[in-house]
Amino acid sequence: MRTTSTDVSRSTARPGEIPPDGADRLQELARRHLWMHFTKMGHFQHAEVPTIVRGQGCNVWDSRGRQYLDGLSGLFVSQIGYGRHELAAVAAEQAETLHYYPVWSHAHPPAIELATRLADLAPGDLNRVFFTVSGSEAVESALKLARQYHRVTGHPGRYKVISRATAYHGVTLGALAITGVPALREPFEPMPGGFFKVPNTNQYRPAFPGLSDDVLTDALVATLEQTILTEGPETVAAVFMEPVQNAGGCLTPPTPGYFRKVREVCDRHGVLLVSDEVICAFGRLGRMFGCERYDYQPDIITTAKGLTSGYSPLGAAICSDRLIEPFLEDESLAFAHGFTFGGHPVGCAVGLANLDVMQREHVIENVAANGEYFGELLAGLRDIPIVGDTRGDGYFRAIEIVRDQETKERFDRADIERLLRGTIAPRMVELGLIARVDDRGDPVIQFAPPLIAGRDELEQIADTMRTVLTEASAQI
Ligand code: PLP
Repeated sequence: MRTTSTDVSRSTARPGEIPPDGADRLQELARRHLWMHFTKMGHFQHAEVPTIVRGQGCNVWDSRGRQYLDGLSGLFVSQIGYGRHELAAVAAEQAETLHYYPVWSHAHPPAIELATRLADLAPGDLNRVFFTVSGSEAVESALKLARQYHRVTGHPGRYKVISRATAYHGVTLGALAITGVPALREPFEPMPGGFFKVPNTNQYRPAFPGLSDDVLTDALVATLEQTILTEGPETVAAVFMEPVQNAGGCLTPPTPGYFRKVREVCDRHGVLLVSDEVICAFGRLGRMFGCERYDYQPDIITTAKGLTSGYSPLGAAICSDRLIEPFLEDESLAFAHGFTFGGHPVGCAVGLANLDVMQREHVIENVAANGEYFGELLAGLRDIPIVGDTRGDGYFRAIEIVRDQETKERFDRADIERLLRGTIAPRMVELGLIARVDDRGDPVIQFAPPLIAGRDELEQIADTMRTVLTEASAQI
């Protein structure tokens, strides 16, 4: 249906500046036509649709001209921040030269060059890059590759996948089956069979309470191994884990040895290890890849988001040499999988330029230098009564809120809704901070600022949260 002029944002003098009547019109059109993702749309029948129109550095502006510090990098995406002319120019140039060609039986220079660059950067023998558009597609690709790899190497019975409770791995049906958030799977059941969950590394509310970090590590790894044994190792294809698990609130490994032990279990039973780094790659934890931060060698890294800092969509499954070997040895074999827009030339060109900026401006070193300070700033909020835990790594951190610090007593559902969505989220916005409130696990506020953020921005986040959480505490 045609609804008169929609040219609101282009009618202004400067790009991204919207006159007041234009902002009203955008609201009307958004309410009428836009279906926002993971969004309770009914809420926006009457509430203002937050409409972001431009960005610069670590800040974004909405259609009413209000400025926000983006403490979430969009959605864990914008590593090098907003408003980079250099990346826009590279995208424009690539669009003029070759705006599109598939990587189906063909190649193009940006895909070849970015694959080579990623192979060079990725640890060990992760030398083969299968491009996608999104993170879910990267995870879906890794799942299908794991199954087909086992099939063509004489293990057709290996199809099962193990991942961790509460972990989010994406929305396509395979990735969703790997995801450990029951509420996200429920509307689409039945899920495909063969997907199993083991406890995650939550240390504030550990699956096995009362243990030292070392003993907890061993207990978690033993549970993984037991699950493989119970299912039958000859039926298990892969284990998917994030270096730091997002859903549940930035769950770090309990000890430096955790992932090494997971790797050993996978090796013992011929199971592939997939490091889902859709969030954790490209500097988020202070290293290029999350697996480098925790010193383990996966068979596949799945990634997206920060690969282009969001200047164009692109994802990838970065695979070990051994995974492609059977497909090289038998000329009649293909990995039976692909996406029209996977490895899009503009995305790949932008990905290369993004890595150039990250390296030239020492963006990852910035995270390595300031990540711990960020952790200390958030830990400094623990004197506020509802702050139960602060955790995370690098520029990827969370605050868990509790009714009682001493006993870790949880809020009930109604209080969580009232506090997170009724008080904390709107107050952060009022004070000019974008962060994420999330209750897929226990209620947390999450922060993942652009990796160019300096101490000023990190302090602004902590100062704002002191105000917001102190006020929220007073309501209890
Ligand atoms: N895997 C992880 C660890 C993620 O955090 C996400 C998204 O946040 C995905 C997969 C899915 O990525 P996308 O939203 O690009 O499909």
